Amino acid sequence: MKPIISAKEIEDLLRKGGDIKSLPSDAIFTPSARDLLWEFENNGARPGPATLERTPGKPMVAVTPASSPAQLEAFFNSPELHAVKLQVCEVGRRLWARAYVDGNGGNIAVRVGENLALCTPTLVSKGFMKPEDLCLVDLEGNQLIGEKKRTSEILMHLQIMKRVSRAVATVHCHPPHATAFAVAGVEPPTCMIPEIEVFVGKVPIAPYRTPGTPEMGKLVADLAEQHNTILMANHGVVSWSHVSVEDAYFKMEIIEAYCRTVVVAAQLGTPLKTFSQTHLQDLLKIKQTLGIPDPRIGLKECELCNNDEWRPGVIGAVPPKQLESGGGESELDGVSVSVATAPEGTSE
Ligand SMILES: [Zn+2]
Repeated sequence: MKPIISAKEIEDLLRKGGDIKSLPSDAIFTPSARDLLWEFENNGARPGPATLERTPGKPMVAVTPASSPAQLEAFFNSPELHAVKLQVCEVGRRLWARAYVDGNGGNIAVRVGENLALCTPTLVSKGFMKPEDLCLVDLEGNQLIGEKKRTSEILMHLQIMKRVSRAVATVHCHPPHATAFAVAGVEPPTCMIPEIEVFVGKVPIAPYRTPGTPEMGKLVADLAEQHNTILMANHGVVSWSHVSVEDAYFKMEIIEAYCRTVVVAAQLGTPLKTFSQTHLQDLLKIKQTLGIPDPRIGLKECELCNNDEWRPGVIGAVPPKQLESGGGESELDGVSVSVATAPEGTSE
């Protein structure tokens, strides 16, 4: 079997003075390993658009919620925290630009200390936040600093952080296609596109509770140890990252693009194809090297790719009658646009 090489292994090799030419030529490189090789071969230049600086998961300075108001104020206005605020504003701008948030919806939080988090304010569009709009809270949700009031949904973010010590950032928004699955109560099917299997995985649905309540936070946190992206029934999506706020945001792009593709593919008139369980095993191995949780790691092949509950609400089959008559309202330039609903009992 071909060896899988992660960015960490390449970094270790370089640190020991090794040569990247010594890496096996048939190796499979993880996406971040490929980035690192590219960077190395291009004298440190970064590929693609500029990426946001990584957010440290450890306390940035020795400030706690019990520190004096002056110390907290100094921390809140420090250059380190300003850099994190800029990252949060940038992620908010991307959420808005991609229509993942509406009105003042959506919220973002970043762990910035032992018992401290930076979060977005309530009643502000995520597309137009300024660094000074952000709030500093303790992990119980008490606001410590900030002119604007913290988001009402902060408890959910903090409950994820308290439950998953590795979670350094959380993002919540309402991307339409993924939210459609959450409204329909349908878990997105698996084994269709590699990207989501590696960076996200199987996405569960947390039951509906009123947004902002501790019960909502608990139901999401119950799923967060095993899943980095969770659909919230009749509401939206929340994700967490052990790397950075940008990485938590990437999971939103991945789940939304995936749900959009599945919805479109389900209308094309043929059953959707999946890749094999052996192929999924390969992806899960890559995922393990990246340190991303997945409850399927270690499962037997027969337990993977289980899409028993996947029932597309519509299928693109052309009703036989229309085919025989060879025309009618469903024909448009010779292409049938009719979408037949699935037989009764199969749609959910
Ligand atoms: Zn929401």
